[in-house]
Amino acid sequence: MADHLKSGSTSGPNTRLVSAGRRPADQFGFVNTPVYHGSTVLYSSADDLYANRNRYSYGRRHSPTIDALCDALTELEGAAGTVLAPSGLAAVTTAILAAVSAGDHMLVADSVYHPMRHFCDGVLKRFGVEVSYYDPLIGAGIAELMQPNTKAVFTESPGSQTFEVQDIPAIAGAAHARGALVLMDNTWATPLLFDALGHGVDLSIQAGTKYVSGHADVLIGSVSANAAAWPRLRDTHGDLGLTVGPDDIYLATRGLRTMGLRLERHHASGLAIARWLLERPEVRRVMHPGLEEDPGHAIWKRDFRGACGLFGIELEPVENARVRRFLDALALFGMGYSWGGYESLIVPFDISKSRSLPSVFEGPTLRIHIGLEDVADLTADLDRALAELRT
Ligand SMILES: *Cc1c(COP(=O)(O)O)cnc(C)c1O
Repeated sequence: MADHLKSGSTSGPNTRLVSAGRRPADQFGFVNTPVYHGSTVLYSSADDLYANRNRYSYGRRHSPTIDALCDALTELEGAAGTVLAPSGLAAVTTAILAAVSAGDHMLVADSVYHPMRHFCDGVLKRFGVEVSYYDPLIGAGIAELMQPNTKAVFTESPGSQTFEVQDIPAIAGAAHARGALVLMDNTWATPLLFDALGHGVDLSIQAGTKYVSGHADVLIGSVSANAAAWPRLRDTHGDLGLTVGPDDIYLATRGLRTMGLRLERHHASGLAIARWLLERPEVRRVMHPGLEEDPGHAIWKRDFRGACGLFGIELEPVENARVRRFLDALALFGMGYSWGGYESLIVPFDISKSRSLPSVFEGPTLRIHIGLEDVADLTADLDRALAELRT
């Protein structure tokens, strides 16, 4: 970390993105930390070996390439430390394994990323951890759901697919009053748009696959912890033997440098297209907390510094064959999972089988990622394809 950017600094987010985790003087002046491929790290003497006096001891745990990204994320998150995982999902499961033990209970928002729920209902259950799902809009009411053995509250805001904005400070206040840790999947906002630790979160999770990498070419995850949660996170991560290949870490670090600029564009274009869709007769509902009409707008405005390019829509009820024709008619929106890259994407989703709370939707639902293309081209593409939904 550059000295003038140490914690407490008032530098702007883009300045921090450029400087965080970089030590050119340690790399012969080269701007970027190179890709260190390595397992074995040699000690120069028996004395050093016995005393474990190397800056690096084994490639699984640390290397300059790993430290460059971890230090940058630690600084951006305002955390005590950061660990990397081979995917966003692995980051989620690592954070949970750091937080709970057999016999504990964990509260999980009903709107979490679905594979995370699958982990809770499968692996966690097998290991004797009890999970219950709560309404993401519960706020301070979470206090009533806390049991004597509730050790963690898992949040994700806005929620996956349905984009409910959670009152994180209220939830964190209630959880901490009863000694539970607060975990948050902060992939949608990234540390730039939502300061998770500053709002009371103990363990902040990123699927770096999305905006950190930003180019649809890397799978990576991270968990950043405050001082209270860091020792458990560090030890659990070490015990699980998790590591990430240095080429992918390098690509994620490279992506991070431009994340602020990309997010500004994703925010502006995403909001413009969300507003455009709101006016369309084929669209019944737009789920984007940046819209004044959105039920989560007030909390979003209070807590967030912006929006990314991901939101949801509900179409007016229409037969599925027409939805398929609409999707096939799109030229600029790719159909595929994941998001956060430079390109626009669209996928249908169905929450009816993946939630404890009943679905409120009557028409087909779609998740849209607005990439870095020109807005006029994207709306022209949508306009052309929406004709397929009309009789
Ligand atoms: C994509 C995603 C993940 C998982 O990331 P992978 O790298 O695909 O495993 C976790 N949480 C959220 C909110 C995501 O969108």
